[in-house]
Amino acid sequence: MSEFTDEIKDIFSPSGLLSGLEGFEYRQQQQQMAVSIADSLESNEHNIIEAPTGVGKSLAYLVPAILFALQNERKAIISTCTINLQEQLINKDIPALAQILPVEFKYEILKGRNNYICTKRLNKAMIEKNSLFMTSEQQTLQKIYDFVNKEGKGTRQDIPFPVDDAVWSEIFAEEGVCTQKSCGGADTNCHYQQAKQRMKDADLLVLNHHLFFTLFGFYERDSEGYLYFNDFVIFDEAHTVEQIAAERVSPSVSKEQIRFWLNKLYNPRTQKGFFSMKPADRLKKALESTYQDNEHFFKMLHSHVNSVYSAQAHKSAIRIKQPITLGVELMESLLELTIELKKATPLAKNDIEADEIKNYFTKFTRIRNNLVFFLEQKSDEYVYWVEYKGRARNNIDLCISPIDMAEYFRENIFAKNRQSIMTSATLSTNNTLEFFKNSIGAEEIRGEIIETPFDYGRQMKIHVYRDIPEPEKGAKKNISDLLNESDFEKILTGKIKECVEKTSGGALVLFTSNKLLKSAYNKLLEEFLGSGINLYAQHNGMPNNRILQEFRDDENSVLFGVDSFWMGVDIPGHSLRNVIVTKLPFEVPDHPVIEAKLEFLLQKGGNPFMDYSLPTAILKFKQGVGRLIRSRNDEGIICILDSRIIKKHYGRHFLSSLPECEVIIESDERI
Ligand code: SF4
Repeated sequence: MSEFTDEIKDIFSPSGLLSGLEGFEYRQQQQQMAVSIADSLESNEHNIIEAPTGVGKSLAYLVPAILFALQNERKAIISTCTINLQEQLINKDIPALAQILPVEFKYEILKGRNNYICTKRLNKAMIEKNSLFMTSEQQTLQKIYDFVNKEGKGTRQDIPFPVDDAVWSEIFAEEGVCTQKSCGGADTNCHYQQAKQRMKDADLLVLNHHLFFTLFGFYERDSEGYLYFNDFVIFDEAHTVEQIAAERVSPSVSKEQIRFWLNKLYNPRTQKGFFSMKPADRLKKALESTYQDNEHFFKMLHSHVNSVYSAQAHKSAIRIKQPITLGVELMESLLELTIELKKATPLAKNDIEADEIKNYFTKFTRIRNNLVFFLEQKSDEYVYWVEYKGRARNNIDLCISPIDMAEYFRENIFAKNRQSIMTSATLSTNNTLEFFKNSIGAEEIRGEIIETPFDYGRQMKIHVYRDIPEPEKGAKKNISDLLNESDFEKILTGKIKECVEKTSGGALVLFTSNKLLKSAYNKLLEEFLGSGINLYAQHNGMPNNRILQEFRDDENSVLFGVDSFWMGVDIPGHSLRNVIVTKLPFEVPDHPVIEAKLEFLLQKGGNPFMDYSLPTAILKFKQGVGRLIRSRNDEGIICILDSRIIKKHYGRHFLSSLPECEVIIESDERI
């Protein structure tokens, strides 16, 4: 133990500094986590820690992070996945620590530059509003201008009325437009520059994973630190970092995206746009060709996918396995457009306009490069697919994603000259961190699983329904499958009812498909009519936060949830006393990214099911089950309606990944 770890241990002891915080309870697990983080910070090591619900992990990382940052003149960055957690840190935990810690520190929430208004661009847009905007947009612009000047606030979140993207895209602090010469130095009135200065001065910064990986993409790869020289980062909700990092490093291109940027240059229909009042005939001609070629290319692509991949026509995401030889005209017109943009620089009236033209040039060059990357498919380290959007499937996104993110994390996040801590309530499967570590290239990184502070033996019981037929594998493929109910589906509704009645409501029913959720919800609405038990369903026209509020307030109600509700529900107390898992949450293996990952594992000699599908499902299952016990006083039951958990050889891995408690096998046989 060093002096620093001793200091941290002492702060978290029963009579330590934190005991002055309202509601503080000594938790040995919290102290253990804080000491582990302090130790890894001091020893310049990366660290991965699973800290179950109830440990109090935010304080366990904030205290060592703040003190270490101050003592070593380094900047601490906290990155989270959800806005809820960011708000909890900024509005509650950090201000409480600022009151109690014997040091002064500065903290800031970090937002991306596209959240800030650029004063220069706002003024310019006001002058040129007739050529840039339609009447309704001009009115919005005027309201923003008045608001900013009256309130002195300058972020999108500050504006108390809706702002559409067409207006915002003309006034935000765009990359590449800032110049010291035009905008002043330290005493600038630019909101973005002022925020940047505060971020630079802060000891502790809070941001989200999306922004972290976006900003990190612009930072020099071999610098010491991630976003600032010599900073260190703590990722909370780290179970999401792999997916978010993959999204950030994966470009996508769509017809709408190209059209949006073309419209910003010049829209021939409305005669609005950056170049509308400029003598740029050749550029406008190149623009018109690009508009036409864009429409034509996506139409041809649609036919190509329909004919070559006709067997997958029912899917919304179709993997493209061969290079596509379409798009020559679009490539040529995009090239022509970038050449004309370069030539148009002398038309700029000032530095800002010159930088905007440069930005358009960069934007269209990137779009063209991404299209080429997608169509040629030269790198086999990526998976390529098209994604259909909209009811009529007429919007197509071209998507690219790295198949394996391990190397990316190894080289960038776990680099020797950098320091990171990853934590989450759910990282382990089968009581090891191996799966999570392998997925992010952290095989050699130190790791720790903290024990739960809850008494699950007393607080939770698991009921497993043995006699329910096993659910069918994978997604339904054809119309007759879709119309016919399987044996599992026929019996499911009755079993859900039986489970709900065990606790007279207070139940969260978790599904893996919207279709099954809707059908069960509609059938049970009738069954529970007049029973005093109200039903709520996700995706039923009400926003998620309102559904959760209604469910929380109505103690005997039932909530039907899918996808995000497996992890985004935090309702301590009596309102949630029963979690019903309808199906083990295996990912559908025919999504292109999953399919490519499974193939990749097979090529490496692994077992795709045991090495990927099973641990991924276990993590989601643990998150679902984790909705039940949120505090030491909670008690309740878990009902598992997927009999594979006891009938299949792999089922035991699900149960052994849960905290120890009584498991009751429910059978239809009567003695
Ligand atoms: S510094 Fe940048 S964001 Fe600020 S007013 Fe100038 S150009 Fe706009």
